[in-house]
Amino acid sequence: MTCHETAGELATARLLLAQQLESLHAAGVLQIGKVPPPATTAKPTAPASARAARELSSPERNLPTPRTTIEPTEEPDMPRAKHAEKIPGLSLLAAAYPADLPTAAAGRQALLDQVNQKVAVCPLCKELACTRTQTVFGVGNLLPRVAFFGEAPGADEDRQGVPFVGRAGQLLTKIIEACGWQRDDVYILNVLKCRPPDNRNPLPQEVANCRPYFERQFEVLQPEYIVCLGSIAAQSLLETAEAVGKLRGRFHKYRDSQVLVTYHPSYLLRNPPAKKYVWEDMQLLLGAMGLPIPQRAS
Ligand code: URA
Repeated sequence: MTCHETAGELATARLLLAQQLESLHAAGVLQIGKVPPPATTAKPTAPASARAARELSSPERNLPTPRTTIEPTEEPDMPRAKHAEKIPGLSLLAAAYPADLPTAAAGRQALLDQVNQKVAVCPLCKELACTRTQTVFGVGNLLPRVAFFGEAPGADEDRQGVPFVGRAGQLLTKIIEACGWQRDDVYILNVLKCRPPDNRNPLPQEVANCRPYFERQFEVLQPEYIVCLGSIAAQSLLETAEAVGKLRGRFHKYRDSQVLVTYHPSYLLRNPPAKKYVWEDMQLLLGAMGLPIPQRAS
């Protein structure tokens, strides 16, 4: 994509139109224009029953006490990403799976892949779209009890396309391991999918542009717990202006997930004494999850 003003705008409009057409096609719309009314009125078909709860077995190694069953959500109560309709095609993606959200990792992967395809070509934040090496979507367990939610990719993440792989990421990995897990037991994602130049803070408009993407990720993943790392993640998810110091130490709610707020690993790198607060928060999390609290050195 070119980054010149007029050419960029034209490319953006083209891309959005192409995405919209593609989504309509995916949702089964094969023709646009006047369609003659049907000769007979078909009775609406009852939605397929989504009642049977499915046994979910842990995909690989010991998950942190995985949920053994997930009630599929029936259509009327299905949590919809509040802002999904702002990105052409995203709400239609949800509509393409009307009866229940997929309860198996493969189904979730397919849904996330569709979102990621949109993320990978997202033109909404001009500056970020012009400076990123690639977008950074998210990684980890697709049936997660816990999701860690960061701010935005840094230089290492932008290069590798994976969240939290730089210095802050190594510290996050230690935090995860201190809880008795491996990185791929949990899901890891960021508010922004593109690196802000010079690692500046995300702008409010950039958060707004990325909101439909992270909301949809949470909608598909349905984590029982979300750990917000730092103020950008916490304020974006909870739509508050409160500081981390005020938000941490108790659970908040985001849709069906319990949300815990703690300090960002980058902050801990600058301010190591704050690690004790993060460990307190992780202990709170483990206790709420009914998991033992490992003995921990520093
Ligand atoms: N900081 C973040 O918030 N996310 C990353 O992926 C890396 C650093």
